[in-house]
Amino acid sequence: MEYFNALPIRKKLLLIIMLVTGGVLIFVNSVMCAYDFFTLRHLLIKNLAVLTKAIADNAKSTVVFSDQDAARETLLALRAEPCIVYAAILTPDHRVFATYTTNKAMTETEFQPPTIPLNTPVFGNDSIDFLTEIKLQDKTVGMVFARSDRHDEPLLLQRYLLVALLVMGVTFFLVWLITGKLQRVFTRPIEQLAATIRGITRNQDYSLRASVKNKDEIGALTMGFNEMLGEIELRDHALIQAHSDLEEKIEERTKDLVLAKEAAEAASRAKSEFLANMSHEIRTPMNGVIGMTQLALQTELTEEQRDFLETIDLSANRLIQVINDILDFSKIEAQKLDITYNDFNLRETVEDTTQEQAVRAHEKKLELLCQIEEDVPEFLVGDAFRLQQIITNLMGNSIKFTESGQILLKVQRKAEYDGVVELLFAVSDKGIGIPEEQQQRIFEAFSQVDSSMARKFGGTGLGLSISSRLVHLMGGRIWLESTPNVGSTFYFTILCEKQSQAKVIPQASPAFLAGKSVLVVDDNPINQKILLQKLGQLNMQAQAASGGAEALEMLQKHLAAADPFALAIIDIQMPEMDGFTLIEKIRQQQQLAELPVIILTSAGLPEDKVRSQRLGVHAYLLKPCRQKDLLRSISTVFVQAEHPAPQQATPQAGKKEKLHILLAEDNLVNQKVAQKLLEKEGHSVVIANNGLDALEKYGAEHFDLILMDVQMPEMDGFEATEKIRALEQGTTRHIPIIALTAHAMKGYSEKCLAAGMDDYVSKPFTIASLMERLDHFSFPQSGE
Ligand code: ADP
Repeated sequence: MEYFNALPIRKKLLLIIMLVTGGVLIFVNSVMCAYDFFTLRHLLIKNLAVLTKAIADNAKSTVVFSDQDAARETLLALRAEPCIVYAAILTPDHRVFATYTTNKAMTETEFQPPTIPLNTPVFGNDSIDFLTEIKLQDKTVGMVFARSDRHDEPLLLQRYLLVALLVMGVTFFLVWLITGKLQRVFTRPIEQLAATIRGITRNQDYSLRASVKNKDEIGALTMGFNEMLGEIELRDHALIQAHSDLEEKIEERTKDLVLAKEAAEAASRAKSEFLANMSHEIRTPMNGVIGMTQLALQTELTEEQRDFLETIDLSANRLIQVINDILDFSKIEAQKLDITYNDFNLRETVEDTTQEQAVRAHEKKLELLCQIEEDVPEFLVGDAFRLQQIITNLMGNSIKFTESGQILLKVQRKAEYDGVVELLFAVSDKGIGIPEEQQQRIFEAFSQVDSSMARKFGGTGLGLSISSRLVHLMGGRIWLESTPNVGSTFYFTILCEKQSQAKVIPQASPAFLAGKSVLVVDDNPINQKILLQKLGQLNMQAQAASGGAEALEMLQKHLAAADPFALAIIDIQMPEMDGFTLIEKIRQQQQLAELPVIILTSAGLPEDKVRSQRLGVHAYLLKPCRQKDLLRSISTVFVQAEHPAPQQATPQAGKKEKLHILLAEDNLVNQKVAQKLLEKEGHSVVIANNGLDALEKYGAEHFDLILMDVQMPEMDGFEATEKIRALEQGTTRHIPIIALTAHAMKGYSEKCLAAGMDDYVSKPFTIASLMERLDHFSFPQSGE
């Protein structure tokens, strides 16, 4: 069927007609053959019956008179019929009376005709037998038997078939010939239509038309097709027109877009440059304001003047914070916020940051706690400055939005793989909380839960979005849990590499502290836990009491057991019995009068100091106390106790070198600020107005250190540093160069280090931050 379907119409038509014609011919011829054959046989039988009857009529007398010769003579009449091969006249009892035959074999074998019914032809293999009676006055006197030959029949049949085939062949040929000619009348227009369609498909030329010659259905079909082509051609033209219009428009828009993109890129470049300049321009005068205020605060002042200057200092610091936030945010926008990787001590970084926040927390009478779990590694590689920024922001918010209770910073080690630790930080407060629907939004820039609150508490709404970006850059994430009026916990994780073992200097706790028993008195269970943990790290035996009464009881019990405490660390702010009252009660007992006591206080009030001295307190620590401060205070207490001659145990107590410093700075205010700050610390300062000047002065004199501004006229700090490093080539000299940079842009720190500088300080710098940098260098004793 598939083959038939694939045939062209012309062939299909021909095939159908030939099949129908063939079928009809075969049927007709078969019927004709059969009819002729049976007619012939009928004639044969009829002829045999007539002949037999005629013989029977003629042979009556011969039978009656038993004249055999006459009987034979009668039979000889059959010679005229060659198809009769045998005939016999029989007596009524079926004996042969006379015979006739053309077959000699039959005479020789005395053939006995078979007994067959009268007047009924009986068919043998190749013969027909017929028997009839000889009647005389209704009395059977004998019988005639005749056998006719049928040998001709197959030959006859063959001839019939041959003729039929011949007729069929000729008819077939004629039908094929005529159909072939006639079917073109139908198929040609269809073929032409198909050829036109193929041409259109191949060349996509809708102007082609099929020719219409007939007025029949095919003609109507072709005309309809041509009309459709006309429609398509029209639409095609419209489409081509629209396409070219569109292309023109796209070309125009592309040109506009390229221009816009170039403008945007130029704007982005301008924005980055503007950022760098803004950063420089804002920080330079701020450097002057903060530096000069600090210097002025160190002079003799009236109460009122001091108050004014402290307010200026506070406002300037707040302003620099806002500027920092805006610059950081601009850097995020310009995708230029980056983090650096340096070795740092996690515990110190976290504790220092917490302590910086302590003053603000204590002003609001909030308890600030910092809990670093024991398994948190200390020596890590990462961006300590940015980590501090995140913690400061989260703690700052907690302090801002909390009226009472405690704020806890908890640091945990979440996971570690291949020397990389994942740290989890959690800052929780009991503040105003954040409604659930606002919780995601506050991580967006400029988002604040309630702007009236924001006005009350201050803030730009940038802190969390900056923190979130920084956390992301450190490979972590930030999220929160909060319930309005119950409190909030902000969580964040970061990934930090651990410092290689070779670089880590194990912090051995002094052996003389090991095993010493300490009583911690604090009403806050978390603070108790933190202190016990810290003391445990110093290998001390620490126990805790939750209040004054319990503490006195424990002290007594240990005295009675001849196992007195060697030290008491007492929180000042406690309900029922405060720390000072407890110390007074301790001192009233003779055996405890000399017990070394360290107090924990939130506010370093002058009257507290006086009271502490009066009560013989050995040291006092500001909460939350840092591990290093705790160690220093405890060490001092025991060293004093065991070596009465006062001995300095503080690490800062080492001799401070007086350095000869070259300050390369073009800005007059900055020159003055830096010079005064450094001279106050006892260092001598020579000023160079630009890089070139610095290079000359470096060649003329010996300096211990160069402080190098990066942006200077004539020769900038990078070039000057490169030249100095080139001069040092081949010598053993390497003068420390610290860059003074006001640039907040990404890549500046790398640029400083690449130019050969050893470190950098961001302007405006405080004397503390500069001195902290100097601590990282070891200076040979100045030869001057
Ligand atoms: P800022 O504090 O400068 O306004 P942030 O991005 O740090 O900006 O905080 C955005 C807002 O999120 C805050 O204004 C405040 O509404 C809300 N928020 C942040 N931390 C807390 C918190 N601990 N308790 C309650 N609200 C908070």
